[in-house]
Amino acid sequence: MSKSIQAIRGMNDCLPQDTALWQFVEQTLRDTVSRYGYSEIRFPIVEMTELFKRSIGEVTDIVEKEMYTFTDRNGDSLTLRPEGTACCVRAGNEHGLLYNQEQRLWYTGPMFRHERPQKGRYRQFHQFGLEAFGIASADIDAEVIILSARFWQQLGLAPYVKLQLNSLGSNQARAEYREALVAYLEQHLELLDEDSRRRLYTNPLRVLDSKNPALAEVLAKAPQLSAYLDEESAEHFAQLQRRLSAAGIEFEINPRLVRGLDYYNKTVFEWVTTELGAQGTVCAGGRYDGLVEQLGGKPTPAVGFALGLERLVLLLQSLNLVPALPATADIYLMAVGEQAELAAIAVAERLRSELPAKRVILHCGGGNLKKQFKKADKSGADIALILGDEELARGEITLKWLRESHPQQTIELSKLTEQLA
Ligand code: ATP
Ligand code: MG
Repeated sequence: MSKSIQAIRGMNDCLPQDTALWQFVEQTLRDTVSRYGYSEIRFPIVEMTELFKRSIGEVTDIVEKEMYTFTDRNGDSLTLRPEGTACCVRAGNEHGLLYNQEQRLWYTGPMFRHERPQKGRYRQFHQFGLEAFGIASADIDAEVIILSARFWQQLGLAPYVKLQLNSLGSNQARAEYREALVAYLEQHLELLDEDSRRRLYTNPLRVLDSKNPALAEVLAKAPQLSAYLDEESAEHFAQLQRRLSAAGIEFEINPRLVRGLDYYNKTVFEWVTTELGAQGTVCAGGRYDGLVEQLGGKPTPAVGFALGLERLVLLLQSLNLVPALPATADIYLMAVGEQAELAAIAVAERLRSELPAKRVILHCGGGNLKKQFKKADKSGADIALILGDEELARGEITLKWLRESHPQQTIELSKLTEQLA
């Protein structure tokens, strides 16, 4: 026997027993965004490496150490997309969707990051994200957050996730804050870990985001970004908060929430849960007014978020909130005898044409009735139909209820559709 080949570490198969739950989650999200007037956009899984360097930022975890980058046969440096926003902006610019327009867009699909695989953190994972372009005011920030809150309601997760908010202010305000933060951290160099020291001059805001408990105290006393907010950003943030309150959405302001990507300004937010251990952020986003221009477009305000589908699925499973999902079939049709087997093909096709909502499995592989009934039971179907040569000759078929205790019926073949409708 040859050695079997296994999947790449951190890249998961989704098996049939789980796909129904995934489809339920994806369908719920799709239905929700369409109720807010968002349209789907699809873009490639591979892009020029430069796209991510220029948008996410050179000194971020993603670009520094997480990207799957390779040289293709033309010698171009390509990268498996680690996130969707940069791709969405690239596509929007390329096709003239963004300039002077409003766009409400969503996307979903696999993303790739070379991280240490663990529960809720994988190397291929799936995001569902949305981006709203062309609106600078806080009402659209509120809309995307209100929309995300509806996701949790629809999925039954509302009691288990909390919203954290912050404002990063303008680039100017952030630059001033950055100086103050660096000055403060320089005074406490001995308390910083290696990662933080390395980031001190390249991406000091990210130090605030450190999960190292040893840094908690020094970071708690660090100067706060809110003290440096420019007036416009402060007003924008206040307007957002008023709108969220008007919509009945609770939030907590987390002054240390900075996000790991460079393109954000003003609003940033995360929905977090305490039910998933360290991987508690299920959804994260914010405003990125500079990115469209940074990627070669005309200045265009934008706001969006992405959520991790694996984390949502895990959350539903760990809270025992998986809804009762449909079995694979409604009707299992079996036949015994050569003539009956031939006729059953036409019966099954007729049912599929006339009753499109019913899922019909036609037994394959022969065998006696006992064996066929076993398969019928396993299929989850409620109804078994049994066709034998003698019944066929009489123009009849037998109907048996597999889950309920109704008596077995003999039905005229010509009236089968009406009986099953
Ligand atoms: P984290 O702090 O957990 O690393 P992040 O800030 O890197 O998250 P984003 O880039 O904002 O994450 O991605 C949005 C969402 O995508 C996250 O909130 C999370 O739910 C999900 N996500 C990100 N990275 C992974 C991963 N490696 N595996 C599974 N889900 C992920
Ligand atoms: Mg990350």
